[in-house]
Amino acid sequence: MSDSERSSDHKDIRGELEQKVLEEYPRLGPSDSFEFSCHPGIKCFNKCCGDVNIVLTPYDVLRMKQRLGMTSTEFLEKHALLPVSKDMKTPMVLLRMNEDQDKTCQFLTEKGCGIYTDRPWPCRMYPLGLAAQRDTADGWRGERFYFLLQETGCMGFDEQKKWKVSEWLENQGLDEYDEWGEAFKELTLHKFFDDEDAVLAPEKMHMLVTACYDLDKFREVVFESTMLERFEIDEDFLDEMRCDDEVLLRFAYLWLRFSLFGEKTMKVKPHVVEAFKSSVDKKKLFTKEPV
Ligand code: SF4
Ligand code: SF4
Repeated sequence: MSDSERSSDHKDIRGELEQKVLEEYPRLGPSDSFEFSCHPGIKCFNKCCGDVNIVLTPYDVLRMKQRLGMTSTEFLEKHALLPVSKDMKTPMVLLRMNEDQDKTCQFLTEKGCGIYTDRPWPCRMYPLGLAAQRDTADGWRGERFYFLLQETGCMGFDEQKKWKVSEWLENQGLDEYDEWGEAFKELTLHKFFDDEDAVLAPEKMHMLVTACYDLDKFREVVFESTMLERFEIDEDFLDEMRCDDEVLLRFAYLWLRFSLFGEKTMKVKPHVVEAFKSSVDKKKLFTKEPV
C-alpha cells in the first residue's frame, strides 16, 4: 500500500500509518458519508497547518512552484525536505515547515491557506485518506479505499454538514490530482519493487527525483543533452515540452518507465537500435566461447 498522506507522526511516516489503516480504520467507498466542516469561524481554524508531515507528489510541486512563480529548483530548496535513507525505494518529498515553535506551514496566513487553490493533495483530501495497492498483472485493481483521519483537536467533526465521499472529492478539486497520482503510481508501485530487497542505484534515484520533482532542471537535461536524439518523438509534443510543465512531466514518467524498468513506453530510433546491436555483436567477438 502506498499513498501520500498527512500525518503528525514524525517517525516512520509511511509504514506505521499504513499498518494502522489496514488493521483499524473503517473503510469508506465513494457513496459512504461522513460529517465534517472546516471554516474560518471554527475555534480550531488554522491550528492544523503546523507540525505535520505533508508528503508531496510531483504534481503538487508543479502546481505550487507555478503558483509561487519560482523554478522547481528554487521551490525544492526553499519549501521542501528530501529525507534520504539507504533502503528507501522511492523518493519522499515533504513540505518544509517554519522553524518557529509551532512549526507552522510556510503558506499559512491569518485568513487560512495562502495557496488555497494550489494546496497539495493531502491538504485537499483531509479529513479523508486514501489507501491503494498496485494493480495486479491480470488487470484487477488492487485494494483501494478511503478512510477518515482525525487530527488531534480538529473540531470539524462536530459540525453537522454531511458529505458523501464522492461529493467531498469533487468539492476539493481532486480529479486532476488523482489522475496525476495514478500516473505517478506506475512508477512508485512498479512491480520492480515487489522484491523486498529491490532498491534503485543512487544515480537512478537521483534521475527519478530530478525528472519527477525538479522539472526545470529536467528540462535542461532533456534539451541540452543528446537524450532526445535516441527517441522518436512527435515535433509538436517536443515544442510543448519546452514550455508546458504538464507535458514535460508526462514525458518524464514515460522516459522513467523506459529507462528504469525497461518498459516499452518510448520508441527508440532505428539507428540507435542498430548501433546497440552492433556493439553487442562486437562484445561477442571478444568473448571466449566455451570449447
Ligand atoms: S499548504 Fe495550506 S492547507 Fe496545507 S498545511 Fe500549508 S497552509 Fe495548511
Ligand atoms: S483542525 Fe480541522 S476543522 Fe480545524 S481548521 Fe484544521 S481541518 Fe479545519
